[in-house]
Amino acid sequence: MENVAGKVVAITGASSGLGAETARHLVKAGAKVALGARRLDRLEALADELGREHCAIYQVDVVDRGQVQAFIDHAVNTFGRIDVMINNAGIMPLGPLEMLRLDEWDQCIDVNIKGVLWGVAAALPHFKAQKSGQFINVSSVAGHKVRAGNAIYAATKHSVRVISEGLRQEVKPYNIRTTVLSPGAVDTELPLSVKAEGVAEGIAQFYASTAIPASSFARCVLFAMSQPEGVDINEILFRPTNQEL
Ligand code: NDP
Repeated sequence: MENVAGKVVAITGASSGLGAETARHLVKAGAKVALGARRLDRLEALADELGREHCAIYQVDVVDRGQVQAFIDHAVNTFGRIDVMINNAGIMPLGPLEMLRLDEWDQCIDVNIKGVLWGVAAALPHFKAQKSGQFINVSSVAGHKVRAGNAIYAATKHSVRVISEGLRQEVKPYNIRTTVLSPGAVDTELPLSVKAEGVAEGIAQFYASTAIPASSFARCVLFAMSQPEGVDINEILFRPTNQEL
């Protein structure tokens, strides 16, 4: 795998699911990883699994911009640079608007939109100074499709695509690459963030029957990273073969 070994990759939401699996693939390919999330015990266990010399771990709530900055500072202090920022942390509190789960709307917007923005803000100055770097921002099929019951989540994931496209155009002078990764149903802990009664059960069933392994996502990350510096993979949208919508 070209263009991956030796790179320093910061990943938010690295304590489970797509982030953790991507870290495994990256370390196997010779990259160094900075792992951020709130559950420090999970990050500790992952660092033990991957080998401490390949990892920097940091407890971060992406809603807090100061903490995201401190996470990136920690990565740069540990490894001397940062090459890739994977803005992956996210939640999916689905449910129809009429349920008025306002706290969930608030949290979803804070984590899924502002969390990505704080990640961009923290890594961008480093990328500009280096005149190289890559953002990999995680959207979703819900960043392309709105359905009854997913309006807020879809709004956040559409936002990730919009922010990423604006960013892509703006950072051309600095040789920075911008990738949006939009998965369909992948087997992670994400369905656990659906709490609304009568909704959670259906989503759990859908994931149980449809979801594909997290390695599908990790391979896309490595594909986007491994292109020659002059090739900017801007978006990858993928689904389980049997996922209809
Ligand atoms: P998981 O629930 O397994 O992982 C979510 C990760 O986000 C965890 O590591 C969690 O860590 C972290 N996270 C959540 N809130 C915060 C926060 N406030 N601050 C820091 N970290 C946070 O789900 P996935 O791996 O599936 O989700 C990763 C991304 O992929 C999300 O953006 C999701 O929307 C997206 N996605 C997933 C799909 C799927 O089917 N799995 C489909 C489409 C998109 P902790 O709780 O320790 O903080």
